[in-house]
Amino acid sequence: MILGSGSAWDTACVQLANAAQHLGLDDGMHELLRTPRRSITVSVPLLRDDGQLMVLTGYRVQHNLARGPGKGGIRYHPSTDLDEVKALAMWMTWKCALMGIPYGGAKGGIAVEPGMLSRQERERMTRRYAAELVPLIGPEKDIPAPDVGTDEQTMAWIMDTYSTHTGHIATGVVTGKPLSIGGSAGRAGATSRGVQLAVFAALRQTGRDPHETTVAIQGFGKVGALAAQYLHDAGCRVVAVSDVKGGVHNPQGLNPAALIRHLADGAETVVGFPGTDSITNDDLIELGVDVLIPAALEGVITIENADRVRAKIIVEGANGPITAEADRILDDRGILIVPDILANGGGVAVSYFEWVQDIQAYFWSEDEVNDRLAALMERAYSEAAMLATTQGISMRNAAHCIGVSRVAEAHRTRGLYP
Ligand code: NAD
Repeated sequence: MILGSGSAWDTACVQLANAAQHLGLDDGMHELLRTPRRSITVSVPLLRDDGQLMVLTGYRVQHNLARGPGKGGIRYHPSTDLDEVKALAMWMTWKCALMGIPYGGAKGGIAVEPGMLSRQERERMTRRYAAELVPLIGPEKDIPAPDVGTDEQTMAWIMDTYSTHTGHIATGVVTGKPLSIGGSAGRAGATSRGVQLAVFAALRQTGRDPHETTVAIQGFGKVGALAAQYLHDAGCRVVAVSDVKGGVHNPQGLNPAALIRHLADGAETVVGFPGTDSITNDDLIELGVDVLIPAALEGVITIENADRVRAKIIVEGANGPITAEADRILDDRGILIVPDILANGGGVAVSYFEWVQDIQAYFWSEDEVNDRLAALMERAYSEAAMLATTQGISMRNAAHCIGVSRVAEAHRTRGLYP
């Protein structure tokens, strides 16, 4: 096992190196797979509502395009930088390959706190960023989607900006769009539904009863909130959730739907939700639960706290929540980790379905979408679990080996353009 220093890019490179070593890839192929195909940094000037000019920095990285157009979300977060976007783009490459989806990997973002901007400022910023990306993105080139700090409205603005520039409506340029402009039934809850399916697959694998399973979820955003609701509806006891301001805990179980309504009614945080005790994000990671779901940001389980994690199963709703060193500690302790590229692959699966429906201009029912999602998740989970068991490796290494080998195979088959 190769170790690293803890940044998201470093963690991603260590995971690739472990897979490359296990697969016996030569150094040249390893280097080809590590190096992003294209990385761009753009300046995003934004005129604030008060007349001040603010200049932000945006990124888009297309990590690998061997198996299809780039695919990956757009993140608005103050700590976003090129290295983080490169790591997230690399994980998208392996995720799409593991899920059996004909896409490469990409990711983008702007270093900004979107909460400090008005809706009009967010729209101007998004349109300017999208205009800078017009030469790079497109239904056959690179297809963005929502991520941390962005939503379906952001995707609508990008789709409109791109369509205006190119002179034709291009619904397939982004996924995670509103239904009224070519979005897919089931997309909004797809990542969370996939997380729930991954949790259930892990419970089956370890012989646990969902009705006797306690769950803690860090991050109560697009992924975490609906994952909490679906797991609760399916019989698990969700005992703690958190957001950037802190967490709430009730050993008897929370009602996620009521908490979602509480936020929709105007509460700014889960903290203070009636019938709960407050806990910190650090406490939540260390709670004595059966299943821990980090669903916020990367690098939250590190060498500092990995020894204190008490969950028996970790299902990575977020991308890269466990650093490479922490991963080794947890693995040595026998904790089952369902890795991000598998656990949150439901989002890109239904993004793919949305793109297919846009291209065909023919739309499926929510049941059809959910059935196809379940089939992809179950296939990817069982392939990774089978490889892990037969070769005596972790689920993370197995999932990476499957994704990485498929991309390497695509490179070998296409050959090298001189
Ligand atoms: P989001 O912006 O909707 O929600 C993020 C949540 O995390 C919020 O509740 C926020 O308050 C919380 N948070 C932010 N910083 C935190 C911190 N320092 N400590 C604790 N909580 C914090 O984002 P999302 O779309 O739910 O994405 C969450 C994770 O899931 C990210 O890693 C993202 O890359 C990954 N992911 C998202 C999708 C998708 O479809 N949205 C798909 C696959 C993976």
